[in-house]
Amino acid sequence: MQAQKILKKYFGYDKFRPMQEEVIKTVLAKKDCLVLMPTGGGKSITFQVPALIMSGLTIVLSPLIALMKDQVDSLKASGISAEYLNSSQTGKEQIAVENKLNTGEIKLLYISPERLLTENFYYILQELDVSLFAIDEAHCISQWGHDFRPEYTKLKFLKHYYPKVPIIALTATADKITARDIIKQLRIENPIKFVASFNRQNLSLNVLPGTGRMAKLLAFVKNRKGQSGIVYCLSRKSTEDVAAKLKAEGIDAAFYHAKLPRKKRSKVQEDFINDNIPIVCATIAFGMGIDKSNVRWVIHYNMPKNIENYYQEIGRSGRDGLRSDTLMFYSYRDVMVYRDFIEKNDDHTNKEVEIAKLKRMQELAEAQTCRRKILLSYFGEYLEEDCGNCDVCKNPPKHFDGTILAQKVLSAIYRLEEDVAMGLLIDFLRGSEKREILEKNYHKIKTHGAGREISYFDWQQILLQLLNQGYIEIAYDQKNKLKLTKASENVLFRKAKVKLVKSDEIKRKQDDRIKDAKPLSKTQQINNDLFERLRIVRKEFARRNNVAPYIISTDATLEELSIEKPFTEEALANISGMAEVRIKKYGNAYISEIINFVKEQDTEGKKIKGMTYLITYQYYKEGLTVDEISKKRNLKDVTIFSHLANAYTNGKDVDVFSLVSKPEMRKIYDLIKTIDDASSLKLIYERLNQEISYGKIRLAISYIEKLNIKP
Ligand code: ADP
Ligand code: ZN
Repeated sequence: MQAQKILKKYFGYDKFRPMQEEVIKTVLAKKDCLVLMPTGGGKSITFQVPALIMSGLTIVLSPLIALMKDQVDSLKASGISAEYLNSSQTGKEQIAVENKLNTGEIKLLYISPERLLTENFYYILQELDVSLFAIDEAHCISQWGHDFRPEYTKLKFLKHYYPKVPIIALTATADKITARDIIKQLRIENPIKFVASFNRQNLSLNVLPGTGRMAKLLAFVKNRKGQSGIVYCLSRKSTEDVAAKLKAEGIDAAFYHAKLPRKKRSKVQEDFINDNIPIVCATIAFGMGIDKSNVRWVIHYNMPKNIENYYQEIGRSGRDGLRSDTLMFYSYRDVMVYRDFIEKNDDHTNKEVEIAKLKRMQELAEAQTCRRKILLSYFGEYLEEDCGNCDVCKNPPKHFDGTILAQKVLSAIYRLEEDVAMGLLIDFLRGSEKREILEKNYHKIKTHGAGREISYFDWQQILLQLLNQGYIEIAYDQKNKLKLTKASENVLFRKAKVKLVKSDEIKRKQDDRIKDAKPLSKTQQINNDLFERLRIVRKEFARRNNVAPYIISTDATLEELSIEKPFTEEALANISGMAEVRIKKYGNAYISEIINFVKEQDTEGKKIKGMTYLITYQYYKEGLTVDEISKKRNLKDVTIFSHLANAYTNGKDVDVFSLVSKPEMRKIYDLIKTIDDASSLKLIYERLNQEISYGKIRLAISYIEKLNIKP
């Protein structure tokens, strides 16, 4: 398929991620579609690849001016003609782009909605052959979304003016109400919907008690030297305090909050993007407008006020798909601060909902079951298995069979017709005869008192666990009444087993679960050192091109380079992210850094597995003789020959006949034909009267073997 070739050629990737290919097919069939995919899921590819296949122009609507430049820089670095138009440009720059549009040179144009719908641009647009409208951050069109932008509502005219041009709307907002609203607002009828999993398995989830958090934070950061990370704080003051404490420990960090002068804010942001400052301590305002793909960790110095925010903020790490760590400090005090804030502030029209959401956040923080399950269940996604990458999974509490208890709870909810909140349900289970129960005649229902022997506190813990495991739901819009779920039906009607944790174990002191980053193995350390050196090469390119380092290459690409250590351009092409243009521009610099590095390791006696023959080959290519190489590398001649043989077998350019003469080759060839075991060098050596060296024989055999394989 053509799309696959484009993916490889321009983006350097071998395979599409789940869903990308289907979306692309839909777009190419000129159908409208809505794509819900988490941050880092790979949304951009789904309109960029079609843009390159379709004949005309793709117009990308984006509300974030800073991101436009980033995306366009990145496309240009891949050799794709893209431009942007927004208020950050001078008049001259804008005219230059408009002229380019008229000549049809541009494949992708990024533009802000208000600009698109100006009168001036309306006339320009008339002349253009538009193949596709891509609406990025599409949730901005909805008042229900978290980031409503009035100018986005103008986009409803697109379908009116251009009924034949397909629209692809993209967002990382998962909720269904917003999705419905996007479709309605854009006036697209019957779009094809794509909903990807919001599980971001590469992010580890960790929660620690908040006591002594600064010391824990320091330990965490010291173990992740030089990595980019964000510390989210609740107050401006604490962003400054935390940054100061990090600095006092010799760790470079900046702070960021809304009260800083504008200039200072953009400076911090830029320094962070360009890998000049590794750590930013920030209020939640930070990170909205940046696309930095190599944020390696996020710490919540305080618990966020709801799960949406938590998901969004941890989601700013690991966009490149590499392992990233998140850590949240939790203390009951933080919860009280929020509660106070919500209750005292009259602007909060929906206090009940806010408090309910705060509670869910708190439950995630206190959970004794897989945190990712809780996180995803909040967004309506059900994980079959525990995730294995959260602190609870890594250090699980002991479970007991809680099926009977769960059945009691669920059948009580069932019999009470899903019309009770948690408190009353516990009273009911414990056989209370308080007025409310008697009035409603609940005491006559079969399961009344079915859990008399269990304390109120213990029931609370059990219910929370059932909630966290997705067996019940809380209907915030119906006075917090408890509802059954698909999973609970399995327990009630299909004998599914439920695992619970004893509540005394929950009360047990919550030990520090955070595991420091494990010390690296020797190979990992070597790869890591190379990674750091490649980072320096990348940074230099970034500086020269005036773009962010991750635009040149992502961390994922550098990591693969440091593990695979390609020595040649062909080998380079197998590295994910090394697209044609990038190989041309940066390939040589990466290769020579890798070669230098590997050679240095070699002279220091740290042989890198699988690399040794390549080093020999490298010296050979530089014109050294076998003798010289063997002296330099402190290896026997025969070893050098066998390295060269290996290189030859692997398709490297070795001039065999400059090392083995034609008559010698003839003799070896004739002999091999007559013997059974052609792999025994010793046998051949003896039969040829010890006249031809082992090394030469070894090389000749490789040559002959290759001759035989070739048709
Ligand atoms: P989103 O816009 O959904 O947050 P991006 O489009 O920025 O995500 O993609 C996130 C990262 O994943 C980028 O570094 C991108 O180059 C990479 N990526 C996208 N598609 C693929 C793929 N098929 N194979 C490998 N990497 C990919
Ligand atoms: Zn887990």
